[in-house]
Amino acid sequence: MSLLTLTDVARAYTTRRGLLGRSTEVRAVDSISLNVTAGRTLGVVGESGCGKSTTGRLMLGLERPSEGSVLFEEQPMPAPGTTEWRALRKRMQLVFQDPLGAMDRRLTIAQQVEEPLIIHGIGTASERAERVAALLVDVGLRADQAARHPHELSGGQRQRAVLARALATDPALLVCDEPVSALDVSIQAQVVNMLTDLQAARGIAMVFISHDLKVVRQVSHSVAVMYLGRIVEQGDPEALFADPVHPYTRALVSAIPVPGPRRIPRIVLTGDPPNPADRPTGCAFHPRCPVAVARCAVEIPQLRTMDDGRDVACHLAEPQARMAA
Ligand code: SF4
Repeated sequence: MSLLTLTDVARAYTTRRGLLGRSTEVRAVDSISLNVTAGRTLGVVGESGCGKSTTGRLMLGLERPSEGSVLFEEQPMPAPGTTEWRALRKRMQLVFQDPLGAMDRRLTIAQQVEEPLIIHGIGTASERAERVAALLVDVGLRADQAARHPHELSGGQRQRAVLARALATDPALLVCDEPVSALDVSIQAQVVNMLTDLQAARGIAMVFISHDLKVVRQVSHSVAVMYLGRIVEQGDPEALFADPVHPYTRALVSAIPVPGPRRIPRIVLTGDPPNPADRPTGCAFHPRCPVAVARCAVEIPQLRTMDDGRDVACHLAEPQARMAA
C-alpha cells in the first residue's frame, strides 16, 4: 500500500541578486513523482545540493510544493503549522544528520525521548516512563544512560537516542536525512543495522536520504537518483547498482569502493554540480556528461520505463537496449 505519494512535485524559491537585481526563480525540486510504500525503504541519492533534503521536507509537509501534490494515506498533506498537520506529525518523523543539533542540551536523554509523547498527549507519566525505558532498550542504550545529557554520550549513542525519540510516537513514516554521515565508519554499520532491524520489526516506511551509495544500496527496497532537483534514474537497487543506465548513476556507482576488479570502470566527472539558479538548458547534466549529444543541450529528457521496469531520464537510454559503458 502506498503510504506517501508525490506527483509532479516542484518547489521553487525566488531569489534576488543585489539591491536592484532581478528576481530569479530557483527550482530546488522539479517535477518529481515518488511512492513510499508501507514497511519499505526508499533510498534517495545524489550530490550535495541536488534537492534530496528539500524532497524529504516536502514529504513531511515541512515545505509546501509550488506545483504538484503530496498525499499521505491518499489524503492531501495539510499545510504546516495547522492542527491537522500537527496531528499527522506524530505519524511522520525526521532523523537528522547531526544528533547534537537535533537535541536540547539541557534535557536528559529520557526527557528528550519523552518530549514527543508529552507534545502529542500520549500516556500517563508512568506509562510514558515505561515507554521511554523500552525505547532506549530497543535502540541499544543502557538504562543508566537515560539520565545523561547529550554531550555525555558518543555520536553513535546520540543518534540512537534521536532514533528512540523519533520512534516514540509509533510513526508510520521515518525520513532519515544523512542519518549516519557524521558517524565513524565502524559505528555507521551498527546504526544502519539497528535502523533496518527496527524498521522491519515495526513495519515502518523509511526514506533514507544520503550521498553514500554503499549504505543506500544496503538499506533500500527501491532507489531514486537525483540530479539538480530531478530524478534521473529510479528502480530496484540490485539492478540499478549492478547495471546503472543513466550516465550520472554510472559515474556515482563507479566511484563506490570495491575490493578486486571493477565491473564498471571508474568514471570521473569533471566540473561541479551546476548552480540551481543558473540551470543548464536541456539535460542539466549535459555539461558534465561524457556521452552527451547535440540534442542534450536543448531538450530536457523525460523519465521513461526500461525493459526491466526502472525509470531513466536520458535521451540515449532505450527501453530495449542499453548504452555502451
Ligand atoms: Fe548525457 Fe544527454 Fe543522457 Fe543527459 S540526456 S545524461 S546529457 S546523454
